[in-house]
Amino acid sequence: MTTVSAYAATSATEPLTKTTITRRAPGPRDVVIDIKFAGICHSDIHVAKAEWGQPNYPMVPGHEIAGIVTEVGSEVSRYTPGDRVGLGLISDSCRQCSSCLAGLEQYCKAGLTPTVNSIGRDGQPNQGGYSEGIVVDENFVVRIPDSLPLDKAAPLLCAGITLYSPLRHWKAGEDTRLAIIGLGGLGHMGVKLGAAMGAEVTVLSQSLKKMEDGLRLGATHYHATSDPDTFTKLRGSFDLILNTVSANLPLGDYLNLLDIGGTLVELGIPEHPMEVPAATLASGRRTLSGSQVGSIAETQEMLDFCAEHDVTPEIELIEADYINEAYERVLASDVRYRFVIDISSL
Ligand code: NAP
Ligand code: ZN
Ligand code: ZN
Repeated sequence: MTTVSAYAATSATEPLTKTTITRRAPGPRDVVIDIKFAGICHSDIHVAKAEWGQPNYPMVPGHEIAGIVTEVGSEVSRYTPGDRVGLGLISDSCRQCSSCLAGLEQYCKAGLTPTVNSIGRDGQPNQGGYSEGIVVDENFVVRIPDSLPLDKAAPLLCAGITLYSPLRHWKAGEDTRLAIIGLGGLGHMGVKLGAAMGAEVTVLSQSLKKMEDGLRLGATHYHATSDPDTFTKLRGSFDLILNTVSANLPLGDYLNLLDIGGTLVELGIPEHPMEVPAATLASGRRTLSGSQVGSIAETQEMLDFCAEHDVTPEIELIEADYINEAYERVLASDVRYRFVIDISSL
């Protein structure tokens, strides 16, 4: 076992504080990662603030992890010390169910083991990436291509894959009229990835404050959802809408923006349920779906795609003692567009 510095939430209301945690000694198939950067995902905040149920405090958030391999177990075949690697939300899965066997471990029927706020096979709590190091099975580690800087690679491990997977599943391409709701960490990756795949991208943001950014990042159109005209003007305009908003929205208004047969995919996971007007689905044979991160193989594919197409997130690099302020700014939608913690400051 080794001891590493970390930042942990100790209750739903207290600020995160610096602490130390222990990491297991690597087993035969484990990789030890020296964490260099960790992104701040809104899911970290939902969990820390007990919005998705009571977490196991103290809880170290962080599932957008980029670092360097320092040690490998005796049976590890895919990685060697010095490799640049990433770890996202999925640290383990049952490996036996039909989802796992189909390479869709994000939909493991026994429940995937998140990197954060879960119990590992050794019976110990899994602690996340706001820490100096982590030990994980090599099957859940991905390789970060050399052309991607580690700080900018970190947010790809959750925000990147969470947008890449539905864009691929719903075959976003040149004929796709795509709308992204919410220009935050996830949303801005949706704009960049959607544009790189050739889709015509529209941003639906609360205001026009970030319009210049949205257009620079690859959107062709940008509308404020605070303006009721947006919902009349854009009625029936989209094939695919990806909702990245962390709060409840009047989904019926947005479903009406889909053309006949269009699909709205729920990516944001707000604390409370949302209402769906059945008539809005029925009258346009519309689909309401959802999507959760992406598989390990797809995460590797996404990283390679980002390297090839020069797609990286817009980040604000912060020191560890700024985490609580960063949380407040994410909650105020004041992030352009992902906070990334420089772990050397821990
Ligand atoms: P974020 O950076 O905070 O972005 C969310 C954006 O939603 C904000 O920037 C804002 O965009 C908009 N928004 C926030 N509050 C709103 C409100 N009350 N009404 C309307 N719009 C609002 O968060 P994120 O890290 O991208 O995560 C977004 C959500 O996705 C979270 O719920 C998170 O837990 C979830 N998530 C899901 C998965 C998955 O696998 N499905 C993976 C990661 C995260 P504008 O300022 O442009 O309006
Ligand atoms: Zn996340
Ligand atoms: Zn499984």
